[in-house]
Amino acid sequence: MSLFICPICKAPLERAGSVYRCPEGHSYDIAKEGYTYLLPPNQKHSSAPGDDKGMAAARRAFLSKGYYQPLLDALCHLAVSHTGTAPAVLDAGCGEGYYTAGICQALENAGKHPRMAGTDISKFILRAAAKRKTDAEFAVASSYHLPLADQSLDLLIDCFSPLALGEFQRLLRPGGIFLYVVPAADHLWELKQILYDTPYPNEEKETPYDGFSYEAIIPVNGTITLPSRTDIQNLFQMTPYFWKTPKEGSQRLAELETLVTKIAFRIHVFRRCGNF
Ligand SMILES: [Zn+2]
Repeated sequence: MSLFICPICKAPLERAGSVYRCPEGHSYDIAKEGYTYLLPPNQKHSSAPGDDKGMAAARRAFLSKGYYQPLLDALCHLAVSHTGTAPAVLDAGCGEGYYTAGICQALENAGKHPRMAGTDISKFILRAAAKRKTDAEFAVASSYHLPLADQSLDLLIDCFSPLALGEFQRLLRPGGIFLYVVPAADHLWELKQILYDTPYPNEEKETPYDGFSYEAIIPVNGTITLPSRTDIQNLFQMTPYFWKTPKEGSQRLAELETLVTKIAFRIHVFRRCGNF
């Protein structure tokens, strides 16, 4: 049984060969790469919203070199220690599936039997995710209209993706865990020093969200060395700065052949309250 439900009638979907089908007879083709479209009926999927092809390739190339491995390791540790033997897990806004596949594998390595799904609004980036060798299933879907049933999740992960609080509240069962990854104050500080005359640290917030209680904030810090222009540009393309850096800044970066920079993340660990 899939974690996904029919976006039209909300009934559970069952996978049969290269389609998902609900009992009402609605069916959704699975692309040869292994993902499907589960957007609500009023949302077209021709406009290709979300990250584009070049961005997807840059992220994939950068992450595959292990630069953010410390974050993946921390997420795997939290996922394993906060779930039972057969957890239902969603990576919302999963991108090219680096964390989805890694966490799924970690849960399996721990002897668990996860049902794991990843969703993203960009088909280009999700196509890369679905090509990964993983037991996770992938669907093109909006984080604001997720094709999953109420209280169906034991664990939900949001790694640098939009915070769709209403949907996350709906999907997590009471006691379920929400891992929300955000950049810390000095994340990529040395990169920003090259891009901007006056770089600003990221704002760090501790926001109590309705329906959730704080369990912990886990810091993940490190230093990475990028030995080539390609790696530097791939990292740059993954950041929001790519779209808003003045020309002189991007030129300074383009001339760099190596870059040593801090990476710093905070994993906010929330528990879904039981009294609702
Ligand atoms: Zn249906």
